[in-house]
Amino acid sequence: ANASLVIGNWKMNGSQALTRSMADALRAAVPSCGDTKVVVCPPYTLLAELTRHCYYDGIAVGAQNVNANENGAHTGEVSLTMLKELAVEYVIVGHSERRAMYGDDNSAVAAKVTAVTQAKLNAVLCVGEDKQQYDAGNTWQVVEQQLQAACAELTPEQAAKLVVAYEPIWAIGTGETATPAQAEEVHANIRQWLVKRFAAIGEKIEILYGGSVKADNAAELFAQQHIDGGLIGGASLKEDQFVAIVQAAQ
Ligand code: 13P
Repeated sequence: ANASLVIGNWKMNGSQALTRSMADALRAAVPSCGDTKVVVCPPYTLLAELTRHCYYDGIAVGAQNVNANENGAHTGEVSLTMLKELAVEYVIVGHSERRAMYGDDNSAVAAKVTAVTQAKLNAVLCVGEDKQQYDAGNTWQVVEQQLQAACAELTPEQAAKLVVAYEPIWAIGTGETATPAQAEEVHANIRQWLVKRFAAIGEKIEILYGGSVKADNAAELFAQQHIDGGLIGGASLKEDQFVAIVQAAQ
């Protein structure tokens, strides 16, 4: 309840047809979604179709990645200018899958967060520990390091365009969720860190939880004081489930 932001991350899934049917389902539900902002992040190839179906409808369009360079010889990459042409408002940065499989290390993540916020788009910075780090009790150490590295260059003005998503890697796509109390503890630490780093602006940065959020556990997670919303993977690919999660945010 009272969650302000719900973001769907389709990862490398979806189709033109799902883009249209999800847009229809959300458009039907959004008038009853109060102040909750809904963002869908499909693969690049579906952004134009999503924008076509959602523009002016209160559903924001997001990308899952970006290249921090302005343009030039970067075969296979996509720039912020290109995303802006498609009315993209949010960009996920540093998702654990990109960190693990596509070379997005802390310095690449920092460059992307800086570029996205400088371009006045919202950067959804993903942080989170893996199972080994969790078992060793190093969750906060890992998350703090990731925050420090990613925010090293940020001005307070840029931080106003920052969203932080806490996604424990062991909870992603596993059906295993952090308990609301576990997540809340990390979120409270993140909030404290953001306020220390960015003062008043740090109070306003939304902190999302991600990792096996489903229709049946969303309300309990969103009820936590420092959980401002969710970053949803698998369940954001099913119209009824994603709509139910958005409704649980109200
Ligand atoms: P699941 O919701 O499928 O666990 O994925 C979470 C995630 O990685 C969102 O970015």
